[in-house]
Amino acid sequence: MTRLYGSIEAGGTKFVCAIGDDSFSVIEQTQFPTTNPQETIANCIAFFKPFAKDLVGLGIGSFGPIDIDPDSATYGYITSTPKPGWANVDLLGGLRNALKLPMYFTTDVNSSAYGEMMARSGVDSLVYYTIGTGIGAGAIQDGQFVGGMGHTEAGHTYVMAHPTDIENGFTGVCPFHKGCLEGMGAGPSLEARTGIKGELIPMDSPVWDIQAFYIAQAALQATMLYRPEVIVFGGGVMAQAHMVDRVHCQFVELLNGYLPVPDLKSYIVTPAIENNGSATLGNFALAKAAAEN
Ligand code: ADP
Ligand code: ZN
Repeated sequence: MTRLYGSIEAGGTKFVCAIGDDSFSVIEQTQFPTTNPQETIANCIAFFKPFAKDLVGLGIGSFGPIDIDPDSATYGYITSTPKPGWANVDLLGGLRNALKLPMYFTTDVNSSAYGEMMARSGVDSLVYYTIGTGIGAGAIQDGQFVGGMGHTEAGHTYVMAHPTDIENGFTGVCPFHKGCLEGMGAGPSLEARTGIKGELIPMDSPVWDIQAFYIAQAALQATMLYRPEVIVFGGGVMAQAHMVDRVHCQFVELLNGYLPVPDLKSYIVTPAIENNGSATLGNFALAKAAAEN
């Protein structure tokens, strides 16, 4: 009997749907822009329907905030997102009604964290950050996601301002907190400081070390809070290949020798799986877990 697993990476910009075989190799994949919820959910269903006979589970990693408490009346909903049309949308319910499969519903960054853990044998504690349009993180301890009433929101912790930002009066762009980690360190802060989109800023711009200062603070928080074996930084901003070295330098200064940490080259890293394939792999494994539960 063929056993297939489904993955939905539900992003604010695009959705990526994939089918994996028993060894979690991708055998079919598609992506489409995130338009309105009805159309977007219908596109997901249309992709999976032809495989319904062999699909045994579906893993969904979604942008958020989302409700991941199975006992909650709004379990499976995207809750308070500022993305127009998507607040209070029952994403999981829409999929379950049409596909009738065991499903695992979590955050996009949890899915990526899970995939990155799987890509590293022997690792069972890891934190995955995305540094993109926003900042979010998924943390795993003992192979389980960290979270209580809901998922964590590691992008919205307050950070220490860089002296240059103080000098220039740059106070951050988070619509909720201004100068939180996301407000100071996500992609849009690069454009807010320089007037230029991150992907077009020259490599010798002083803004990169400012950005690295905030990303290093994220690594410091993850170290202090969770003591993980690995911290992975993905997302658009980390496509700057020089960034991870800059983060290493600033992390050393911030940590100031307080704790022993692994060699930084294996401790603070970019994703082991390219093109955000970590989320897809993580979703396949979570789909399998849901099917076996
Ligand atoms: P999203 O977070 O929306 O899923 P991305 O991870 O691609 O998508 O992040 C998009 C953000 O990252 C934007 O603010 C964009 O300007 C910035 N960005 C994308 N590519 C780069 C790059 N090569 N260098 C710096 N910033 C980038
Ligand atoms: Zn914030």
